[in-house]
Amino acid sequence: MERVLITGGAGFLGSHLCDLFINRDFDVVCMDNLITGNMDNIAHLMGNPRFEFVHHDVTNFVYVEGNVDYILHFASPASPLDYLELPIQTLKVGSLGTHKVLGLAKKKKARLLIASTSEVYGDPLIHPQQEDYWGNVNPVGPRGVYDEAKRFAEAMTMAYHRYHGVETRIIRIFNTYGPRMRLNDGRALPAFAGQALTGKDITVFGDGSQTRSFCFVSDLVDGIYRLLMSDEADPVNIGNPAEITITQFAEEVIRLTESKSKIINMPLPEDDPKVRQPDITRARSILGWEPKVKLEDGLKETLAYFAQCIKNEAKSASKGD
Ligand code: UDP
Repeated sequence: MERVLITGGAGFLGSHLCDLFINRDFDVVCMDNLITGNMDNIAHLMGNPRFEFVHHDVTNFVYVEGNVDYILHFASPASPLDYLELPIQTLKVGSLGTHKVLGLAKKKKARLLIASTSEVYGDPLIHPQQEDYWGNVNPVGPRGVYDEAKRFAEAMTMAYHRYHGVETRIIRIFNTYGPRMRLNDGRALPAFAGQALTGKDITVFGDGSQTRSFCFVSDLVDGIYRLLMSDEADPVNIGNPAEITITQFAEEVIRLTESKSKIINMPLPEDDPKVRQPDITRARSILGWEPKVKLEDGLKETLAYFAQCIKNEAKSASKGD
């Protein structure tokens, strides 16, 4: 039986990866310190004999007994609001945490995939972004704690690959959405969904002309699995190239929730990228991967999840929990 360690396994992407590997008959060790992860995301896996949860902060020495064949390093705060609230943890998990999992991969002779990000391109000066673009990042701005930690993580990963011969994979993840995002994580979709579903104003930052390209989580984890099983050590973009403005995105949420909420404009956060769209030529040719889920279909599923979260919160509030 092959065994996989997933750091950040109780988070949004990590928990979907736990599901994918359990469904493909791996033994799964899920590690999380639960600062942004949530046990609810993996509650359905607890009790499964092939699933093990370890409560641990991956910036400290990582000890795992027995064989480990694959490691996926997905631990990190992942929303701009989280980086503002947890700047040091964000820097540490991307740098020290990546170092720890690289050391573990070397010892266990495991293959390691690290979650990097479109944020390594910063506020990009070329469009769409290809993997050979080096980026335009402000190291001392509020997003720098995430961007630079991930850039360091990529450098460290390539060093272990070149110097120690560790088998490594680097995925650059573009905006992804789906069930198990935190309703209050401050990202565009959870914010808009929460607002639309409770009749509050929709807070579009800036004039809303900035663009993003949103990938549904099932497409993303399929791309991750393909990259892990490939021979590609260079970074690979995984994301959905369908680009829309943030205003259009807010309007789509309003339409699908049949909400009466109105859009209001708020100040644009510092260093907010003006455009973002993945060039997925490399993923298409090397992995035979491309996204399948249309925005409307992915949004319907995700909005239903958020509606359920809001109902559950209201229920527990009325019980006085
Ligand atoms: N955004 C917004 N309103 C919100 C939250 C986010 O207009 O309540 C904007 C944000 O300024 C950015 C885009 O939506 O331009 C995507 O933001 P998100 O935090 O989801 O991710 P990012 O791509 O910036 O990391």
